[in-house]
Amino acid sequence: MTYSLAIHGGAGVISRDRMAEGAERAHRAALERILAEGEAVLAAGGSALDAVTATVAALEDEPLFNAGRGAVFTSAGAQEMDAAIMDGRDRRAGAVAGIFGPRNPIRAARAVMERTDHVLMIGQGALDVARDAALPFEGAAYFRTEARWDALQETLRQMAAGTLDDDPARRHGTVGAVARDRDGHLAAATSTGGMTAKRPGRVGDSPIPGAGTFACDATCAVSATGDGEVFIRWAAAHEIDARMRLGGQDCATAAHGIVMGDLHANGGSGGLIAVDRDGRIALPFNCEGMYRGWTIEGGPRGVAIYGPAADPGTDSGTDSGT
Ligand code: ASP
Repeated sequence: MTYSLAIHGGAGVISRDRMAEGAERAHRAALERILAEGEAVLAAGGSALDAVTATVAALEDEPLFNAGRGAVFTSAGAQEMDAAIMDGRDRRAGAVAGIFGPRNPIRAARAVMERTDHVLMIGQGALDVARDAALPFEGAAYFRTEARWDALQETLRQMAAGTLDDDPARRHGTVGAVARDRDGHLAAATSTGGMTAKRPGRVGDSPIPGAGTFACDATCAVSATGDGEVFIRWAAAHEIDARMRLGGQDCATAAHGIVMGDLHANGGSGGLIAVDRDGRIALPFNCEGMYRGWTIEGGPRGVAIYGPAADPGTDSGTDSGT
């Protein structure tokens, strides 16, 4: 059996007409580097679970993306992070919401999965689990980037003036990974700072199994990005599993169907990455772009930012398949 890995850095892309050449190069280089890091885990015979953990931790460490270091700010000027991980072997899952402190929220989510009887934890209890697991903590100076702070100021200014636009790069972003390992097991992981200027205490889809994150060996692993409230209401990730399991659809049909159909029709701008039990990857999005990368052992490999939202290995190709 071969391995497959797909990663995303969110649907909150810088619009093509505003994307400077240097910034595009930096985003693509970061995606390439982190894709290679995750792939190394799978190529060495590592598990899908370890691959998505390592990949999402690397994406959190990269300040270009909205998760961990470089997370967006709430309306009160704080950073509140959400993350989830799910193991397709038995649907075990762990998640944290609204936390600040652990350098890698995804490792805190994994600690919830592995060290407690619970799935989703918040507040001091979640931080205690991370501390008990000896995970590194960081302070405000580590997580803060001027670009995210400026994005908050601009958003607050626009909100006060009643002229709020929907520039995706200023509003949101997320990171995620899905993998199938050589044993045929699936896993998914997602981490985010959420939406710029969100209310304190707001939780998005990313840490909710079945909404922004899902994995089951029988069907697929999914990590989503976009307007979290709509992804929660349409149980986006689980909907793909349901269409496959109950409706007999293949993963790509189900994934593109929910993103281009219900999500799009109901204001759910965004996309997702999915891998099925045969290692096929789907990368649908209904907006201008989604930072993304993919690799299938012995098959297609590449990174892309803008459309078309074509899947690796399909005839339609992508904007940068290698
Ligand atoms: N889905 C994330 C949230 O709602 C944001 C994003 O992916 O852009 O928190």
